Amino acid sequence: MSDNLKLAELLFPDITKTPDDMEAQFPPRNLKEGARVTRLAPSPTGFLHFGNLFTGTVAYRTAKTTDGIFYVRVEDTDQKRKIEGAIEVMLGGLEAFGVKADEGVVGENVEKGDYGPYYQSQRKHIYHVFAKDLVSKDLAYPCFCSAEELDEIRAQQENEPQKGYWGKYAKCRTLTLAEIEENIKAGKPWTLRLKSPGNAENKCYIDDMIKGKIEMPENVQDIVLLKSDGIPTYHFAHAVDDHLMRTTHVVRGDEWMSSCPVHLQLFKCLGFKVPKYAHVAPIMKEENGGKRKLSKRKDPEAAVIFYVETGYPKESVNEYIMTLMNSNFEDWRKTNKDASIDAFPFNLKKMSVSGALFDMVKLNDVSKNVISLMNADTVYKYTAEWAKEYNKEFYELLIKDESYSKAILNIDRDTPKPRKDIACWSEVKDYVSYFFDELFENSYEMPENITAPMAEEILKAYMKVYGENDTKDEWFQRMKDLCEPLGYTPNVKEYKKNPEQFKGHVGDVSTVIRVAVTGRRNTPDLYSIMSLLGKEKVMERLDLALKHFSA
Ligand code: GLU
Repeated sequence: MSDNLKLAELLFPDITKTPDDMEAQFPPRNLKEGARVTRLAPSPTGFLHFGNLFTGTVAYRTAKTTDGIFYVRVEDTDQKRKIEGAIEVMLGGLEAFGVKADEGVVGENVEKGDYGPYYQSQRKHIYHVFAKDLVSKDLAYPCFCSAEELDEIRAQQENEPQKGYWGKYAKCRTLTLAEIEENIKAGKPWTLRLKSPGNAENKCYIDDMIKGKIEMPENVQDIVLLKSDGIPTYHFAHAVDDHLMRTTHVVRGDEWMSSCPVHLQLFKCLGFKVPKYAHVAPIMKEENGGKRKLSKRKDPEAAVIFYVETGYPKESVNEYIMTLMNSNFEDWRKTNKDASIDAFPFNLKKMSVSGALFDMVKLNDVSKNVISLMNADTVYKYTAEWAKEYNKEFYELLIKDESYSKAILNIDRDTPKPRKDIACWSEVKDYVSYFFDELFENSYEMPENITAPMAEEILKAYMKVYGENDTKDEWFQRMKDLCEPLGYTPNVKEYKKNPEQFKGHVGDVSTVIRVAVTGRRNTPDLYSIMSLLGKEKVMERLDLALKHFSA
């Protein structure tokens, strides 16, 4: 037996399986030509960042547009950071916005699919098969350097361009089998390092789906593959898992870009085909004329839970994310107004290289548009679902009379130009408040040209003529008929020509009524509002306002 084989046996005596066994156990997937296999590989921190949802959506769409597979793998090798319930929180956040895994971890300790386990902490035996194989091929070796020794190396390299464990610093690279045996017998802890075949003079290339062709120096560092507890590093686990799970496109944050030379080398040493990479730039925010990353600490919208709690429907968030993903999406949307978002030909190559800008105003605009196209039943259902969780009091009001609530939400909807004034469900309460006495607030803010006696006069006159069974035309005619006797003109153009001849125009008259009935100057169609409120309530409100202005 060669020394390498002996060393492999010494380090991994319990491993009897071979890489071939693994290949047989996790064979290439039987998918149609061109189908892409992608994944999201979160660490279970319990916090789902908007960036995770964004990258997850990119991975999800990449798979979905090719009838491929999207799976979730949990990267829980850092047991110190383990948090109870973290998986549920993260999967819940993804699912709330439609990023649903076909395979992998689909619930806390619930896995689906033939390529698992999908928790890295349960894959130790698999990593060790490949670790043993690398040792037997003289591509990996145990390192006994202590933390102090490694600190010392770092200090020595302070002024050197090439850092890390390599060349003359890689002390353990040249240990003999006898020396290693002795260390192991003495119970010295060891990590497993790659015996890097790289040369700093050489270049390596990646053709990133987002960033394009990139040239970097080859890796020369003997990076750690297994930590002293036998748990793999990210690099090693990435290579083994993405190979065995047959990932075709590794979609991940671009903080991993600089590790690509290590990864390319690892894939080569392991004899694996290199997957395609798509490195996603972080979501940025504008600040003081500059740009910075969307920050968990500074920006509430960095947390996916923010969108759930504020009540942004998944359709809106998806639509907005798509505008961030592909800048041609908005043009596509203009010509495909009713199409499902799934029909958009999402293209990795059209993603921003430097990072898309998050813009709350834009999100709200997109969401208002999306919600304006929903029917009243849908708006009711979503609002009730949200309120049940986040505003119990409003929920009770909303469900008290379902058909009344739906009728409210139907005003100015279902028309060729629906109103775009709801961006999220938490805004609905304020939007509909004057329909409920419990919420109605009579802040009687009148146009500047209308004094209290003028408002009083208009209200008095209107209360005499208000007809609850009027059609919309009749209703408006009454409003116009009020004008002249009171010194207003029913004709806005005429008013603009000779403002000094009138107290105001029909718009002022109707505003007085609007403010009296709703407490606001701006509302959807007043006729519909008054019809829904009914005579009793309308008269009560008019009367209340009259008292206010005559006081
Ligand atoms: N667990 C890694 C992270 O959260 C995953 C990176 C990857 O997708 O490969 O950054």
